[in-house]
Amino acid sequence: MIRRLFTALGPKHDRALRRLLAWFTVAAVLQGVAFVMLVPALRELLGDRPEHAWPWVITLAVLWLAYAAVSYPATLAGYGTGADMSRDLHHRIGDKVAQLPLAWFTPDRVGGLGRLASQRVVDIMGVPAHLLHQLVDTFVTPATVVLAMFLFDWRLALSMTVAGVAVALVYRVAGRGMAAADQEADRIHADAAVRIVEFARAQPVLRAFGRTAQGHAALDDSLVAQHAAGRRMLRASMPGLVWIAFIAQAAFLLFLALGTHLALGGSLGAAEFIALLVLSARFVEPIMLTSELGGAIRVAENALTEINELIDTPTLPGPETSRRPDGTDIELDDVRFGYHGSTVLDGLSMRVPQGRMTALVGPSGAGKTTVIRLIARFFDPDAGAVRVGGVDVREMKTEDLTSVISAVFQDVYLFDGTILENVRIGRPDATDEEVYAAARTARVDQITDRLPGGWDAPVGEGGSRLSGGERQRISIARALLKDTPIVLFDEATAALDAENEHALQEAMAALARDRTVLVIAHRLHTLREADHIVVLGDGQVVEEGVHDDLIARDGQYARFWRERRRAQGWHLAKPAVVR
Ligand code: ADP
Repeated sequence: MIRRLFTALGPKHDRALRRLLAWFTVAAVLQGVAFVMLVPALRELLGDRPEHAWPWVITLAVLWLAYAAVSYPATLAGYGTGADMSRDLHHRIGDKVAQLPLAWFTPDRVGGLGRLASQRVVDIMGVPAHLLHQLVDTFVTPATVVLAMFLFDWRLALSMTVAGVAVALVYRVAGRGMAAADQEADRIHADAAVRIVEFARAQPVLRAFGRTAQGHAALDDSLVAQHAAGRRMLRASMPGLVWIAFIAQAAFLLFLALGTHLALGGSLGAAEFIALLVLSARFVEPIMLTSELGGAIRVAENALTEINELIDTPTLPGPETSRRPDGTDIELDDVRFGYHGSTVLDGLSMRVPQGRMTALVGPSGAGKTTVIRLIARFFDPDAGAVRVGGVDVREMKTEDLTSVISAVFQDVYLFDGTILENVRIGRPDATDEEVYAAARTARVDQITDRLPGGWDAPVGEGGSRLSGGERQRISIARALLKDTPIVLFDEATAALDAENEHALQEAMAALARDRTVLVIAHRLHTLREADHIVVLGDGQVVEEGVHDDLIARDGQYARFWRERRRAQGWHLAKPAVVR
């Protein structure tokens, strides 16, 4: 456990933790020796010459003072180290999150990450603050008492050793079962937490379809699983807890019986007997605590395992120095890629020529979004290469790749700030004029005119106060402000009102000017404007060319075009008046 703690925190806290361990050990030994001093003190006190007890009582007082003198600063240092560690862990988690491949961020993991950075870090913070202290006290104080006990009565010391070993064995055996149950329960709790958030977010959809709590099977299942895991954990931990309590009580009875036997036999004085009883009570107490402590240790261990797992998650390998792209054309060369073993792109080769607009079309699930993700290097292909300006994206540092690419996705995430702040994210050091100019070009001014508060209107969490088309316009404004030579664009599929449609078209046209653009096209207008069209199907390019040629070929693209036209030309007729 201590080794794992050291790994999780990195070498930085090694010294502080070792120093703490040393301090806590010294304090525990002092405490143990002070307890043992009770034996001679009581012996003298109840003997013929009680005044001879003074030196022992004074030694005891000095030992207690020394214990307090060591324990107090050590406890304070423990809290200090805990606070340092939590700050450091937050930084390490933050740095890691910033390097993780974007594919890592599934909703489940994002939910877990919140818990990791809050609850889990607090769990670990408690380790140097009090757990380590308790742990050392629980083992070192009784061990000191037993060792010192050998000086007074080897028979009692031996019986204490036997009791100690028995508890340790029970603890190990029971602990293993409890740890497994704990880990499982933890995973299930995390899943339930994610499902509850999902349930809350899905309320509009569930209500629209007239479904309430019973209707959300995933939540029901995870709550049932949580319930079952709680019971399993109880079942796994109960025998261990009962056994530890039983052995601790049995040990106390054993001392009592043995002491009585020895006292009656005359080989143990009454004073020693009383002192020994006090000591055995002191010996049994921490043993009773081990079961409680065991739970806290497992919580900390699980927290450490989770944090270590995150820190050990492989990031996409990057080069020491970036190769400079020559130009901005994009090439996918015999790219194979699949999610979790299922093939999506199967030897895809295509080019996006520099300074032109290339439209990507194909049926839903053909892999269009995947192509964009591969170019932006959310993932690396399983085989083949993605090149920008002739350079494999794996040979470029992440910051160099992102400095030439802007991506506008359908599900645009806005931070809970003002419209202006959200546009500024495109280039934080831009002047106000530059931000306004980009925002106006993307027709964000139409949105600010509508909203009370104008440019300073809050967008709500995730941009909830704006429509999908409006959020995408803010994303285009960000891309305009970032002003990269390459733009990857996933056009909104949702039907837009005429005003939004028109504004979006203008914004896109501004963005496409003089840039290399790859757009997943859903609108007829975009397809007509594109310099080059690539049709995907079955993980490969099935057709490519310009609009007119592709229509003339009357293949898959022509069919796609006709379907789109039919969909757009489709209007709801006025209902006939029934008399
Ligand atoms: P398109 O954009 O053409 O609709 P996508 O690139 O989004 O297609 O998806 C291609 C295939 O990959 C689909 O079958 C989809 O279900 C699957 N897919 C997409 N993203 C993921 C993911 N993160 N994990 C697993 N499968 C995915």
